[in-house]
Amino acid sequence: MLNALSIDVEDYFHVSAFEGCISPSQWDGYRLRVEDNTFRILDLLDEFGVRATFFVLGWVAKRKPGLVKEIARRGHEVASHGFAHQRVYNQTQNEFRHDIRKSKALLEDLAAEKVRGYRAPSYSISRSCLWAYDELLEAGYVYDSSVFPIRHDLYGIPDWPRHLFIVSKGSDGQWKPSASDVLSERHYDPWPSLTEVPITTLSVAGKNIPIAGGGYFRFFPYAFTKWGLGRINKSEGRPFVFYLHPWEIDPDQPRVAGAGMKSRFRHYLNLHRVEDRFRRLLADFRFARIQDVSLTPSRITTDRAIYA
Ligand SMILES: [Zn+2]
Repeated sequence: MLNALSIDVEDYFHVSAFEGCISPSQWDGYRLRVEDNTFRILDLLDEFGVRATFFVLGWVAKRKPGLVKEIARRGHEVASHGFAHQRVYNQTQNEFRHDIRKSKALLEDLAAEKVRGYRAPSYSISRSCLWAYDELLEAGYVYDSSVFPIRHDLYGIPDWPRHLFIVSKGSDGQWKPSASDVLSERHYDPWPSLTEVPITTLSVAGKNIPIAGGGYFRFFPYAFTKWGLGRINKSEGRPFVFYLHPWEIDPDQPRVAGAGMKSRFRHYLNLHRVEDRFRRLLADFRFARIQDVSLTPSRITTDRAIYA
């Protein structure tokens, strides 16, 4: 089974956890580590023969255009993490429209290919800003990978589907998961629709447990992650969507002064363990780009078949 591997390309000082102590106007004062860290990930993926989806922040692409070209040159999918790394529900619809179009145009120019996917900063597409789908659709995105179906203080739509689905705008004007859940049927859907690729969770006793990346990958022992992800593949017969950030394999990154306890815990926990765990993950599971992973788990479809 092919699972989806995604990398959110941003630097350690962009994260929402530090937005209270580092403002965007200060970002240019920091020495960038994202390029070196992303290269380490690219080399690791080459070593394991894996292609992934890289959601690149426009701010990074503007300063490191060669990095985006290199990601594309090595056969990975270039997708958008927006431009300015502001949570969707903190932006006006107009600001969001501008942000996702600016990053898409820049990334397409650098990668010399169509950008199909979008991932919001901090998975911030929630019930309060479902208008984001109107904007993504109009800007020409084909899929979104921002919904985290969990309860969390900063993000999440806990009762939305746990696996890839079509989200469509019904006759009532509301965006919601479509009843038609087979991607190949999407062109029969009369309503405006996008594919949603939610971040994978493990369902235990009716509760969705985040397991597939980032801070959760650093928090749980690898044996638990391996068991949980294996269960999704074997018991549910579904691919999982895994995510990681380049700063998570960089234990030597400068410590941000003034960050709160919770933010520090979430950001710095077990950074020194990530490279080893990531190697084990790449050895234990099969991965591909999001655009290669279809809804029907046993069927590996081409990009053309999925998005025809
Ligand atoms: Zn981010």
